[in-house]
Amino acid sequence: TVRTRFAPSPTGYLHVGGARTALFSWLYARRHGGTFILRIEDTDLERSTAESVNAILEGMTWLGLEYDEGPFFQTHRFPRYREVIDQMLTQGTAYRCYCTKERLEQLRAEQMARKEKPRYDRRCLAGVPHPPPGVAPVVRFRNPPDGQVVVEDLIRGRVVIQNAELDDLIIARADGTPTYNFTVMVDDLDMRITHVIRGDDHLNNTPRQINMLRALGATPPIYAHVPMILGPDGARLSKRHGAVSVMQYREEGYLPEALLNYLVRLGWSHGDQEVFSIDEMIRLFDITGVHSAAASFDPKKLLWLNQHYIKTSDPKHVAHHLAYHLGKLGVDPAAGPDPTEVVKAQRERAKTLVEMAQNSLFLYREPESYDEKAKAKHLTPAILPVLEAARERLEALPLWTEEAIHAAVTETANVHGVELGKLAQPLRLLLTGRTVSPPIDATLYLLGRERSLKRIAAGRS
Ligand code: GLU
Repeated sequence: TVRTRFAPSPTGYLHVGGARTALFSWLYARRHGGTFILRIEDTDLERSTAESVNAILEGMTWLGLEYDEGPFFQTHRFPRYREVIDQMLTQGTAYRCYCTKERLEQLRAEQMARKEKPRYDRRCLAGVPHPPPGVAPVVRFRNPPDGQVVVEDLIRGRVVIQNAELDDLIIARADGTPTYNFTVMVDDLDMRITHVIRGDDHLNNTPRQINMLRALGATPPIYAHVPMILGPDGARLSKRHGAVSVMQYREEGYLPEALLNYLVRLGWSHGDQEVFSIDEMIRLFDITGVHSAAASFDPKKLLWLNQHYIKTSDPKHVAHHLAYHLGKLGVDPAAGPDPTEVVKAQRERAKTLVEMAQNSLFLYREPESYDEKAKAKHLTPAILPVLEAARERLEALPLWTEEAIHAAVTETANVHGVELGKLAQPLRLLLTGRTVSPPIDATLYLLGRERSLKRIAAGRS
């Protein structure tokens, strides 16, 4: 059965490229009824941090990419790495190398002078009968000297690498710690990974890992190397193109499903379909259909998708995410109207949840200020008696429903011979402090009778 993994190095936040790789691995596992594993590659002690681990876990949770096993930490697995190193030494697929840094540097200089590719000359391969005292050896993998490695990559197709191009990789440093490619290989083996889906910056590592797996008698997994993401200017996507961290998108008011939908389409398509529910993604996403060329990040399209999901998702679900942004603005969502109603009233007018939260603040606290220009324009002396009449009518309503409110406002406007807009706009201004809000009846309804009457009355002064 299928087993995939996401294996981030915890040296920063979860960025969109990583999230896309994680999504592809997750979808592959889900589609095939397989298992998705999270593995934290934290052996670089200098660059790995606990905050970064948390940030990655938080990002995965927010995106809803739940893992079936893990998180596993490579730093917990050193005894196992040691065991495999010893096993390979015993088998003869690895050997101790005592060459000094100076010798290796000199070798390299000579090879460069001959315009050869620098690689270790295997001086220690046959064994070192009299190891220099006081020198701790490194351990090197005995790479096959000839032949080739063929990778049938699910995205890039067939990739062929000559063994003559590959060095005898150091798998354990002089202090005994295992090196990067080795730990990845052991983990993929132990975790019985069947499909490795990862960034194509790792393509160079793949033949080395395959050779080591074969040396251990294992069948290598199937690989899919996902091309990188470019910014709109064609350079590798980075901070200077805007938000690149998944959680930054949360802060900016994106829904996780909008980001997932955006990421699944980045380098993959299914006809001209743009919108994919999670279930559709699982059903339709095909890793072999991912383009091998780099994909271009388009923030406008992501924003469009976000707006689409805000408009069309279950309002209860949107309300759950909106609550986070209201909280950030310092209001208690529980102290306002039914959050689902807020979303229903606001969802046509917001591209992000930050916008929606800002547009909804008036429901939770008094407007801090009024748009002065709008006040001068809409709050004319002539309209004041009409506003007062509307207030009285609203006060007298037996039931505070949108229909009753609607009737009260329209009739007041009719009776006084003013257009509805001439009444609605000053009302809106008094209720919200602004000139844009949901329809006036919905605005009054959501705000509630007591607060509405108070705010309208405040316009008399
Ligand atoms: N830890 C690697 C990274 O964050 C991924 C390694 C892999 O997927 O094999 O780039």
